[in-house]
Amino acid sequence: TSTVLWLRRDLRLRDHPALLAAASEAGGSGVLPLFVLDPALLGPAGPTRTAWLFRSLRAWSASADGALVVRSGKPEDVVRDVAREVGAEHVHVTADAGPYGRSRDERVEKSLAEDGVGLVRTGTPYAIGPGTVVKGDGGPFQVFTPFSRAWTAHGHPSPAASPPDDLRWVRRVDGEEIPADPDLGNLSLPDVGEEAALRRWEAFSGRLADYDTDRERPDRDGTSQLSAHLKYGEVHPRTLLADLAAGPHGSTKGGQTFRTELIWREFYADVLWHRPDSAREYYRPQLAGMRYASPTSGDGAEHLAAWQEGRTGYPFVDAGMRQLLAEGWVHNRVRMVVASFLVKDLHLEWQLGARHFMRWLRDGDLSSNNHGWQWTAGSGTDAAPFFRVFNPVSQGEKFDPDGAYVRRYVPELRHLAGKAAHSPWDHAGGYDHGYPQRIVDHKVEREEALARYAAVRS
Ligand code: FAD
Repeated sequence: TSTVLWLRRDLRLRDHPALLAAASEAGGSGVLPLFVLDPALLGPAGPTRTAWLFRSLRAWSASADGALVVRSGKPEDVVRDVAREVGAEHVHVTADAGPYGRSRDERVEKSLAEDGVGLVRTGTPYAIGPGTVVKGDGGPFQVFTPFSRAWTAHGHPSPAASPPDDLRWVRRVDGEEIPADPDLGNLSLPDVGEEAALRRWEAFSGRLADYDTDRERPDRDGTSQLSAHLKYGEVHPRTLLADLAAGPHGSTKGGQTFRTELIWREFYADVLWHRPDSAREYYRPQLAGMRYASPTSGDGAEHLAAWQEGRTGYPFVDAGMRQLLAEGWVHNRVRMVVASFLVKDLHLEWQLGARHFMRWLRDGDLSSNNHGWQWTAGSGTDAAPFFRVFNPVSQGEKFDPDGAYVRRYVPELRHLAGKAAHSPWDHAGGYDHGYPQRIVDHKVEREEALARYAAVRS
């Protein structure tokens, strides 16, 4: 009988164990590929990720001869209806590890069971499924380095085989048009989809030798920018890890560091799997009791708006926040600096920043984003100690030494040469083109943050 392949965060054809499982069960009867436009997920997604998703669905469908069936509604209704229409005995999925995905899948599983249809989970969006790597006592890891060691010792499967040549798509049921992209204003996205992901990976592989040093430089194209491709499963991390191991960079410093970054992604998914509450709540509850500014009144509200719009008066911070609005992506170093600035210089809670990031990032991912925020806020797993406060000026001077990154995103500072772009206050005419004054004094706010922290520790 035909089977249903319900796609979610696995929008590719290669290295796709759930697709192979669906094809193998279906044999000559064919696989119906389905995507559900779930209002519960689309509502909060924001225009960047919505556009990415719609483009990725179009790309996927094109690569499967237009066979993708798209329907809107509650997954427990839509998936059951489609399984009935096709007469499927099983619906195949890649397991979802996030809190919403897990509870949704349980609901769908129940609804399918009423018809005697099974939900079959094969693989996850990770090289090793979240929840698999545990400490000797069976408990979850809370610190990255030992997790990384245990993850490496555990090992992960090789990439899955290519889809069979005789794979047939079922075309018997109706679907909707993939909706038009939301208005992105001035934001522009790179190419989307599996082919684009593999092209990006190939181009980046040639630069892996420099990754170890270039990855800290937001003024250079030194990182892979694969994050959104990974988020939508256009490429699986297993494919990247296998290519790395087989290629010339398996043991170079650049290759090793890149592998470690992929393990961070796995680690945060594991943390979320064990602690679903940490997507919203403080991982370390102690910091919930700290005094924070109100985001809805007075300075707090004004500061939050200035931060979101990139007009804090700190060039490196503003460049990052404007890059977010222009590209839906921000360099990792800059994510850390702008996050630290929101929490420690403006005394606003990390969740406010995490929400803004999730709205605009094309790679917005609950586990990597919210734990990245908690890490910077000092409240997460192996947290950077709270008292280590990033200096937004010296960070800029160190990692964007020629000021090129700032000038790219902040036109009001383009008249300042070299690293002068990081300190308009020190240069005659620095403010001549409308760049705003600093909204707070970093030195003062750093002391204030430390005092607030000391108050919750005592
Ligand atoms: P590369 O340097 O090329 O790294 C390769 C891959 O490794 C990335 O694509 C990503 O999948 C993974 N990776 C790298 N660094 C990290 C990290 N620190 N944590 C988890 N995975 C990592 N990453 C997201 O994918 N989605 C998010 O929503 C997100 N939000 C973040 C918020 C904050 C406050 C911080 C500090 C970090 C966040 N990150 C997030 C992690 C990191 O900034 C991005 O993964 C990275 O910048 C993506 O660019 P890249 O693909 O060029 O990375």
